[in-house]
Amino acid sequence: MKLPDGIRLDNIREQLQALADEYGGRVLTGIRGPGRTVYPSYERRRFGGRLRLTLSDGDSEGPTGTTATFEDLPADLPQLTISPWGLLDSVFRLLGLGRKPTGYDELDRNAVFACTDEGFLAAFLTEKNREHVQDLLTGLPGAPASVRAASRTVVVSVPAMLVTSGDLRLLHRRALGVTLGLVDTASGVFIAELSWPEGASIDIVCPVCAVPLVQQLVAYCRCCEAPHHLDCWKYNGGCAMYGCPGCSRALPRSTDGSGEDCPQ
Ligand SMILES: [Zn+2]
Ligand SMILES: [Zn+2]
Ligand SMILES: [Zn+2]
Repeated sequence: MKLPDGIRLDNIREQLQALADEYGGRVLTGIRGPGRTVYPSYERRRFGGRLRLTLSDGDSEGPTGTTATFEDLPADLPQLTISPWGLLDSVFRLLGLGRKPTGYDELDRNAVFACTDEGFLAAFLTEKNREHVQDLLTGLPGAPASVRAASRTVVVSVPAMLVTSGDLRLLHRRALGVTLGLVDTASGVFIAELSWPEGASIDIVCPVCAVPLVQQLVAYCRCCEAPHHLDCWKYNGGCAMYGCPGCSRALPRSTDGSGEDCPQ
C-alpha cells in the first residue's frame, strides 16, 4: 500500500492500517459523532501486554495528540515519570531543588526523571534505552513526548499531532523500545534487536514455537544466547533450549546490559 506521507483526518485509518500491515496487530474503528470524534486506533499484543496507539480528540483540523498505552504489564514495574525539561525545572535546579540529574548530560538537558526506585532507574538507563528516550524527547515533531509508567501501564504521550507516517512509525518503535526496556529491567529478560550470525543462510527459528524469528526485538537467553519470540519466552517462562535448565528462570540484570555468568 502506497500512502501519501502526511497524516490527515481522511487517511488516519489507512495510516494505521499500514502500521498493522508492517508490524501486525489491528485497527480499531473510530466513531464520528456530533461534537466528538473518536479516531481509529491501532492495537497490538506485545510481550503479554497490549499496546494501543490512540489519537486524541481535537478540532476540525484533526487530532492534537498521540498516546501509546501499554497495559497488562508486570506488577513489579516501579513508578517512573520522564517529563520534558521546562522553565520551572531550570529555576528549581538553580535553587538546588528538584529532581536529581541522571548524570547523562544530553538526557538531563532535555528531561527530568522521577522514579520510586533509583536502582531500577540506573539499570534502565542502558545505552539503547537512553537512545529510545532521547528520540522520544527530541526526535518527534511538535512537542516532546512524556513517559509515565506505573505498575501495569506505561503511557507515552505526544502533545502534538504527528505529521508524517514516519513520525507514527518512530513513535511506535521508540514507545515500544522504552516499554520493553522497562519490562526488561523489571523482569531480568534480556531483550535486544535480532542480530544474525556471520554468514547465516538459514532462518533462525524460535525454540518454543519453531517459527522463524523476523521481529526486530527478541528475548535472548543470557547463557546460551538463543533468541526467542518475546511472547514465547514469557509463555515458556524462560529459555527453551534443551540442556539449558539454569536459564528457565529470569536472571538478574546487570546495569551495563551484559549477561550474568551462566549458573550451569
Ligand atoms: Zn516463538
Ligand atoms: Zn544456561
Ligand atoms: Zn538458554
